[in-house]
Amino acid sequence: MTWKIWKWSGAALILAGLFLGSLAGIIVNHQVVTPAGLACLSWWLEQVIQPFGKVFIRIIFMVVIPLIFSAIVLGVAEMGDVRKLGRIGLKSLGYTLLLTTTGVLVALGVVNVFAPGQHMTEATRDSLRARYVGAAAEKVAQGVKETPLADTLLNLIPQNPLAEAVQAFSPNYTGGGLISVMVFSLFFGVALAMCAPAKREPLTAVLQGVFEVCLVIIGFAMKLAPVGVACLGFALTAQIGADLLRSLGFYAAVVILGLGIQQWLIYPLFLKFIGGRSPLAFFKDIKEVLLTAFSTSSSNATLPVSLRVAETQLKLPARISRFVLTVGASANQNGTALYEGVTVLFLAQVFGVDLSLGQQAVVAFMCILAGLGTAGVPGGSLPLVVGVLVTIGVPGESIAIILGIDRLLDMCRTTLNVTGDLVIAVLVSKGEPAEPTGAPAQV
Ligand code: ASP
Repeated sequence: MTWKIWKWSGAALILAGLFLGSLAGIIVNHQVVTPAGLACLSWWLEQVIQPFGKVFIRIIFMVVIPLIFSAIVLGVAEMGDVRKLGRIGLKSLGYTLLLTTTGVLVALGVVNVFAPGQHMTEATRDSLRARYVGAAAEKVAQGVKETPLADTLLNLIPQNPLAEAVQAFSPNYTGGGLISVMVFSLFFGVALAMCAPAKREPLTAVLQGVFEVCLVIIGFAMKLAPVGVACLGFALTAQIGADLLRSLGFYAAVVILGLGIQQWLIYPLFLKFIGGRSPLAFFKDIKEVLLTAFSTSSSNATLPVSLRVAETQLKLPARISRFVLTVGASANQNGTALYEGVTVLFLAQVFGVDLSLGQQAVVAFMCILAGLGTAGVPGGSLPLVVGVLVTIGVPGESIAIILGIDRLLDMCRTTLNVTGDLVIAVLVSKGEPAEPTGAPAQV
């Protein structure tokens, strides 16, 4: 028998890693009961298995700041260059913000209604809190300190963006941290778009280089993912048992429900009432795109298929679809924004970090920006989730809890991301003059 395993897709390997790691963990959780056995287990977990699993997370942490900066600046600069495309650029920007906002609102809705983080036993929650002590424990003990609204808003604009970047992962930092780095990137992107092309091109090229390097580093992390996820799955279930898996199943169901609402309810409404298209025909036309996005978990990898389908099946004007889809592959990530909202609030619920409506609004704002700044590659949003978690006082390492099933959710959210790009292309094309299919793009 040949080692066909090397031919497995990344997604299958990660799911296999999760399954094997968790299964082994559950067996160990049942079998190891004596004090000596438990002491030996915890030595192995602390000294060998968890550090191994954490390499994967550390690599993701490492690129958070450069990735966020370069991705948001490039995303905004591309979107913001509305002078280049006038009305089409403005309409794309408007619809992108509108659909990302509906996605985040759906996330807030489902997570508040179903409270997946409270859907686990107190014992499981306690053991999770104990594992990721630090910021969360403090927040739970003190209750989240309400900062006056004026200060919260003022903190969004960093006095010193470098200092904010340095402090972005300090659990006790009370300034803006990562969110102000995002706002700085937003300003930077808008300003970059306003510079004369000759002045902005060298910097854009450098940022593009930084962005590409970050993607390669995320690629390293994803290569380690199957083993990392197996180790993390084992470590979690060996100590906590099967209840955690049940809770994760519930969390995943809530994410998928949210994605489903946006995909099968909100998009059809926009398509029918603004785009003037039959949603059914639309989904039939784009099924090849849906399958590609689902199987690759990458908006970027799906782009060539989306471009072709937009012109040949949906018959959209090439100059519009090429612009909207190319920019959208990295700057419009509705599904990702929705998923980030649910995930961050789920983990906040697990850690007992009680977020007021104002704080949830900050999370929503960060998720909208994160939707603009997420790389269209598998796991592209993980660095941003880490960033948002730390900002609201949930330990970034706790992302390990959901990493095992992340690939499955990535496949689903990527499908929504690329559908969103095509929906926006339809909406923007509405009322614009057609052009012969295949005519050279004017972009
Ligand atoms: N995989 C997603 C995409 O390519 C990004 C993410 O949410 O991780 O669209």
